[in-house]
Amino acid sequence: MALRGGYMIHVENLIGGKFVTLDESFDDISPLDFSVIAQIPRTKNVDDAVRAAQEAFSLWSELSLEQRCDWLDKIADALEEQIDEVARLESLDTGKPLSVALNVDANRSVNNFRFFANFGRSLKTQEFQMADATNYVLRKPIGVVGLISPWNLPLYLLSWKIAPALLMGNCVIAKPSEITPLTAHLLGKICTQIGLPAGVLNIVNGYGPEVGQAIVEHPDIKAISFTGGTETGKIVAATAAPLFKKLSLELGGKNATIILDDADLDIAVPGVVRASFLNSGQICLCGSRVLIHSSIYDDFMARYLQELQNFEIGPVISREHREKVLSYIELAKQEGGEILAGGGIPDRAGAWIEPTVISGLPHTSRTATEQIFGPVVTIHKFDSDAEAIQMANCTQYGLAGSVWSRSRGRGVAEKIESGMVWVNTWLHRDLRVPFGGVKDSGVGREGGMWSIGFFSEAVNICVMED
Ligand code: NAD
Repeated sequence: MALRGGYMIHVENLIGGKFVTLDESFDDISPLDFSVIAQIPRTKNVDDAVRAAQEAFSLWSELSLEQRCDWLDKIADALEEQIDEVARLESLDTGKPLSVALNVDANRSVNNFRFFANFGRSLKTQEFQMADATNYVLRKPIGVVGLISPWNLPLYLLSWKIAPALLMGNCVIAKPSEITPLTAHLLGKICTQIGLPAGVLNIVNGYGPEVGQAIVEHPDIKAISFTGGTETGKIVAATAAPLFKKLSLELGGKNATIILDDADLDIAVPGVVRASFLNSGQICLCGSRVLIHSSIYDDFMARYLQELQNFEIGPVISREHREKVLSYIELAKQEGGEILAGGGIPDRAGAWIEPTVISGLPHTSRTATEQIFGPVVTIHKFDSDAEAIQMANCTQYGLAGSVWSRSRGRGVAEKIESGMVWVNTWLHRDLRVPFGGVKDSGVGREGGMWSIGFFSEAVNICVMED
């Protein structure tokens, strides 16, 4: 396999403030052209990382909240100085266009640290006054926590966990996806350069069933925040439950986009194309089932397919993932679907797939209900709000959704069985709001106070008045 640009990045684990290589490693392959871009250490146990985190814990947990906020700001500043490098590495590792890597991934990674620094400064001690006593809630750190993230938004999602975990005084064992380790590696370098105390943030690399499983199984790691697929989430939950670990699971989705008959199509058409295909459809929040009122169907579809021609996407994440996505396009044909756009692979190196739009499938078909996680959407018609709601709710998933309407968006949104619904927008985020799924899309919420709650133990102190 060819080396990209003739050089190779050597990813190392960060353990106790030191970068560590291992004898065994494997290739990191860019989906842009299948060139080898890095070597990744194949870690199988996390004992050293846990020891380092435990040793750092008393120092870190005894800093004041304000001091830890200052550290998060320092990380944000240092990461921001290298924002172009974050975007470059993320684009190389995931194949996404540089503009998406910069505006979505790199910016948000910086903002995650900045947001939790500011949010930490706004935290107030909760008090509950009784006639004869005062209760107050201490938020204690949990200890050593394990953070596991997927490949679609690599540093964005890992920093979304690292920032609140550090803020609340925990020491971290973080594991990026084995497919996209480069920006976590850069973050490790940045944290050592700015002098973050050794052992506070440890980063381990390798395969999920090996090092990921080792994190979840380790008796001294007290909480696991996991973002990834629903099937992996089941394994993580089954491993962590008998150990009574705190567990946050952010899992898969198959989100509906509902366009009501009174939608403003000037807003809806570009919004729905973006919700369908941003990051090649590889965002857990993407709307991969587009439900359209029959009275506006022809008009909407003509404009949607036109708009799609100007939307830039990258390849999907890997050769293997492309095979999976293509197998769903084949399945759609067997299930009676009509390919309205795309369906094939462009004639170029890399894991590219044309953005694909499929109509004519029952909304209960496998193609329309299973998570494909690629640039493939299915299109369905409905005749009433009630029918749209019923179609939206007919999957095992319940992560997100969007409704496009001039007047009835809220009413429909409130009936969608999912953790988040947007009305006349998509992926618009205030980082204080709860983020997470219902049904098979996850357990728990992250964001603002929900992250603070997860990454701390709330202890009540009840003081009897004299
Ligand atoms: P995945 O489940 O294959 O892997 C996720 C992470 O878990 C990786 O770091 C992997 O190495 C690790 N892992 C694998 N097996 C493990 C095990 N036995 N124990 C511990 N860790 C293990 O998911 P993926 O393919 O990397 O990511 C795509 C999935 O992530 C999609 O289903 C997508 O919907 C989901 N996702 C969800 C959200 C959300 O917020 N709900 C966000 C992004 C992605």
